[in-house]
Amino acid sequence: MKTIIISHSKDLNSAADIIKKGGLVAAPTETVYGLCANALNSCAVSNIFIAKGRPSDNPLIVHIAGRDMLYNLAIDVSEEAVLLMDAFWPGPLTLVFKASSIVPKIVTGGLDTVAVRFPSHPTMQKLINLSGFPLAAPSANTSGKPSPTNAKRVIEDLDGKVEAIIDGGNSEFGVESTVLDMTSKVPTILRPGGITLEMLQQVLEDVTVDPAISHSLSNNALPKAPGMKYTHYSPNAEVFIVRGDLKKVTDKINTLIQAHHKAGKTVGVLATEETKHLFNANLTLSVGTSQNLSTIAAQLFEDLRTFDDHHMDIVYSLAFPKTGIGEAIMNRLEKSAAHNIIDV
Ligand code: AMP
Ligand code: MG
Repeated sequence: MKTIIISHSKDLNSAADIIKKGGLVAAPTETVYGLCANALNSCAVSNIFIAKGRPSDNPLIVHIAGRDMLYNLAIDVSEEAVLLMDAFWPGPLTLVFKASSIVPKIVTGGLDTVAVRFPSHPTMQKLINLSGFPLAAPSANTSGKPSPTNAKRVIEDLDGKVEAIIDGGNSEFGVESTVLDMTSKVPTILRPGGITLEMLQQVLEDVTVDPAISHSLSNNALPKAPGMKYTHYSPNAEVFIVRGDLKKVTDKINTLIQAHHKAGKTVGVLATEETKHLFNANLTLSVGTSQNLSTIAAQLFEDLRTFDDHHMDIVYSLAFPKTGIGEAIMNRLEKSAAHNIIDV
């Protein structure tokens, strides 16, 4: 298949026509790039799973461009959900509701619930409106890889596998949306993201966090967000997080680097602006200043992919504070490290 690249500033009717015909279009959103298909067309949605190599029991988020679309897809939309939509839509908050009968089972991975998001990115909104359908859209990467935050990374994974890719520059947030289950008694965060626990708590008194987020699950435990059980955000390099006092972390990483170099391995370090000069790695990348977690979130996946560009065997990363969007940063980083954490 020949993939066409469309600038976000161009007429998006050709992209919408692809969606209307049941094809796939990757598009920018404010979180990461999404791989879009008509959510109401099972055949089109099945091609998303094929293009990504995504396990079929991992459900997709349905993207809408107005609340009217929500009421066709979801039933039992609570007053609490309306308060959240007033506060955070459009934006990086996905809400899980009981699904209506029009939502194909392939979208929900066989569940009776559906995850819905109203993105704020004008290009994504335009694509939804021009095509006239809600769009099922997971991140536009090969399943298991770090999510793409620019068109170049989408092309790397999906060229020849999708009809079109819309180039809209760099994603603003850089981590995926917060997934909040509205079907449980107390709304439950199933995946931390751009809308933080603190922000949700300013609107709702009671919000809880699914324990699966902070613990690696045993093989037979069933997380409420099926996607949580898969390997995720993993570069080819083996990633380790080194956590503790900065001086000890620096010494530990540099000692490990020396040993790896003796064994002929290449080593990368994911550091900050403030610490990048401290390491003797083959490639040290600054993910941003420790003073600004939002910029770290926006750069994280791109840096993980850059280590692969340079064929690093091993990557050591600093840990970041789990406050605000830091919760989402560390959730992604811990998954990319397969929970390999070295405490010093
Ligand atoms: P991605 O498409 O990569 O952004 O991942 C979407 C995330 O939302 C995955 O972790 C899914 O498991 C989760 N998700 C989607 N639909 C549902 C649902 N109906 N119930 C619970 N989690 C969901
Ligand atoms: Mg994804």
